[in-house]
Amino acid sequence: MPRRQRAAEAGTSRPLDIRSGDTVVVIAGSERGKRGVVQRTLSAEGRIVVEGVNIRKRHQRSGQQRGGTTALQGGIIDFPAPLAYSNVQLVCPKCDRPTRLGHRVEGERMVPFCKRCNEPYLRAPRA
Ligand SMILES: [Zn+2]
Repeated sequence: MPRRQRAAEAGTSRPLDIRSGDTVVVIAGSERGKRGVVQRTLSAEGRIVVEGVNIRKRHQRSGQQRGGTTALQGGIIDFPAPLAYSNVQLVCPKCDRPTRLGHRVEGERMVPFCKRCNEPYLRAPRA
C-alpha cells in the first residue's frame, strides 16, 4: 500500500487551527521563542502574521497601497512579515504551553480542545 500523501502535497488545504486573535509561540527559525498575537492568517499560503514577530522594514512612499493598507506617510515602516504556519504553535491559555488542538463532539458542536491539558479551547466571540 502506498503511503498516504500529506495534505499539503496533495494540494488540499487543511483548515488551520490557528486564527487571528490567538496567542502563538514561534518554534523554529530566527524568531524562535517569541510570542505574539496572531494578526491574520494567510491560509492559502500556509502563512501567518504575528504581532511583534518577524519585524521587517518597508521603505514606502506616501500614498502607496499595499497589503490592504494605504500609507499616509512615506518613510521606513516596521511591519510584521508573514511566518510559515509550521513555524508557530498555538499557546493554550489554560496551561500556558505550546499545544495542538484536537476536536471532539459535544452535543451538536465540534469543540476544539487542548491536547496537553484536555481543556476546551474557547475563543472569545469576534467583535
Ligand atoms: Zn492546555
